[in-house]
Amino acid sequence: MTSIGVFALQGDVREHLHALQRLGVDAFTVRRPAELERCDGLIVPGGESTTMYKLARTFDLLEPLRRRVKDGMPTFGTCAGMIMLAERIHDGAAGQETVGGLDVTVRRNAFGRQVDSFETDLQMAGVADPVHAVFIRAPWVEEVGPGVEVLAAVPSGEAAGRIVAVRQGPLMATSFHPEVGDDDRVHGLFVDLVKQS
Ligand code: GLN
Repeated sequence: MTSIGVFALQGDVREHLHALQRLGVDAFTVRRPAELERCDGLIVPGGESTTMYKLARTFDLLEPLRRRVKDGMPTFGTCAGMIMLAERIHDGAAGQETVGGLDVTVRRNAFGRQVDSFETDLQMAGVADPVHAVFIRAPWVEEVGPGVEVLAAVPSGEAAGRIVAVRQGPLMATSFHPEVGDDDRVHGLFVDLVKQS
């Protein structure tokens, strides 16, 4: 059975576990290096990336996670999790580091105060019909390296065209929260990625 962990030091862990369970995978929380070792794939949830980074360091998970991501473990970051996977951040907190792996530059809290949190339907590569995307103080992807595939962008409004979902090999990230609600298609894409690798 496919085993997918949810990085559980901080953030909205439970919703991801539920989505994974509905998709029939062995889903569990990851708070210790031994739990990380069990993972065929990992979800890094939304939350607060600065806090998540500090806790990862405190709990001795930062280096093991960097190593597993570097070794090709399929990993899916949502919102703060996207920031954690990014190689480069704009508007990071002082001293904020990431796990890295994804050759992108993300801008934290990119959508600004006016549209701090919003919802929109967007087209996502690999998903047949539009996805209802919920953004909560979300980052966007400002630059992508040559190996990065853009999966979705904001369709309209002030932020039209901004990149909000990407994939690079076994790494996937969304600015929005696919775990909100009961549409499991985006998680399904990730589960397929884990099963393929
Ligand atoms: N703004 C948060 C951060 O910088 C991310 C918000 C979220 O994950 N919903 O980490």
